[in-house]
Amino acid sequence: MSKRDYYEVLGVDRNASKDDLKKAYRKLAMQYHPDRNPNNKEAEEKFKEAAEAYEVLSDDEKKARYDRFGHEGMRASGTGSPGFNDINDIFSHFSDIFSGGSIFDDFFGGSSRSRGQKRKTSGSPGSDLRVTLKLTLEEIAKGATKKIKIKKHVKCEQCAGSGAEAGTSTKTCPVCQGSGEVKTVSRSVFGQFVNITTCNNCGGEGSVVDKPCRKCMGDGRVQEEVTVKITVPAGVHEGSYMTMRGEGNSGKRNGPAGDIIVIFQEIPHDYFKREDDDIIYDLIISYPEAVLGADVDVPTLSGKARLKIDPGTQPGKLLKMRDKGIKHLNASGYGDQIVRVNIDVPRKINSKERELLKELSEQPNVKGNTSSDEKSFFKRFGL
Ligand SMILES: [Zn+2]
Ligand SMILES: [Zn+2]
Repeated sequence: MSKRDYYEVLGVDRNASKDDLKKAYRKLAMQYHPDRNPNNKEAEEKFKEAAEAYEVLSDDEKKARYDRFGHEGMRASGTGSPGFNDINDIFSHFSDIFSGGSIFDDFFGGSSRSRGQKRKTSGSPGSDLRVTLKLTLEEIAKGATKKIKIKKHVKCEQCAGSGAEAGTSTKTCPVCQGSGEVKTVSRSVFGQFVNITTCNNCGGEGSVVDKPCRKCMGDGRVQEEVTVKITVPAGVHEGSYMTMRGEGNSGKRNGPAGDIIVIFQEIPHDYFKREDDDIIYDLIISYPEAVLGADVDVPTLSGKARLKIDPGTQPGKLLKMRDKGIKHLNASGYGDQIVRVNIDVPRKINSKERELLKELSEQPNVKGNTSSDEKSFFKRFGL
C-alpha cells in the first residue's frame, strides 16, 4: 500500500504555517483519539498516520527533506519518519499537544497517564461513562457550570465497597494464594512451558469474600442516580470533549473508578453563526437607513448593543464588533462579532409608496446606478 502525502493526511496546503499544522493535527488527533474510538483499528491507523505526518512536518529539517524528496527522502536518511507503532509513543512524543497545562491536559493527558500502567488495587476498575452535553452559544462564549443527572455505579455503603457482609471479611483466595495468577506447566518436545493465567476463582483480585454483602451481592457497588456538576471552560467546540477523572463508575470491591467523558454539543443559535471564535450576525436594514445612516440595536451574546451604520453603507458590508465573540479556549481574549449588512427590499408596497418611489427613482443620484464597467460592456455591443 502506498503512503499518503503528509500534507494530504493533515488536510493542509504546502505553505501552511506551524500553527496551522498544529491545529490540523490537533483536530485529527481528537477525531481519531483511541478513547473516542475504542477497538476501532481504522481510527487507530488514522491516529498514527496523522502523528507521523505531524512529526515530520513540524520539524523544519525533516519537512525540508520531505518537501524535496518525498517519502523516499525520509527512508534514505537514518533520522527519517518514525512511523509510530505504539500509541503510547505518540502520547509521550507530543506531550506538548496532549498535555502541558492547556485544556488538552484534561482532554488527553490523563488517558495517556493511565494507559499501560496496571492499576494496583484489589478490585477491578469501573468503566468510563460518556455523556453528551448540549450547550448554547451563550454558555460556550463565557463558560458554564452545568448539573446533570446520570445513573452510575457507586460504592455500596453497607459494606463500604468491600463486598463482604457486615461482620465477615475478605480472605485470601485459596486457589492462587493471593497472587491473582495461576501457573500451569506444560511439556512439549521443545521443553517445558510455564503459562500464567488470571485466577478464575477471584478474577485476579487475590482475595474472595467469605459471605457476600446482601445489598450489592458482593459487588461492592450499587447503581444509583447521581447529580454531577460539570464545569465547562469557555470556547469549547462541537465534538470536543473533557475527561473528569475518577467520576465514572466505581470499581468492583473498591477498585478504582472510571472516568466521565463529557462530549460537547453546540445548540444552533437563532441569530448567530459561529466561525471559530467569531460569531456572524445578519443585520437587515432598510434602503433609507443604508443611504442616510442610522444607529441600530443588534443582539450580542451578552445582550443588546448599539451599532452605527454610516451613510452610504453598501449591502454585504461587514462591520466588526470587537471582542463580542467567544472567549478563546487556550488563550486570553475573545473573538469578534461580525455584522453582515443586508438591505431589505419590500415585497409589498401601497400606492402612495409606489408613487414616491417612482418619483425618487427619477432623481439623478438614485436613477440608473450603472457602473462604468457595465457601461463599457454595453457599448461594445452597441447598446
Ligand atoms: Zn455491599
Ligand atoms: Zn485467586
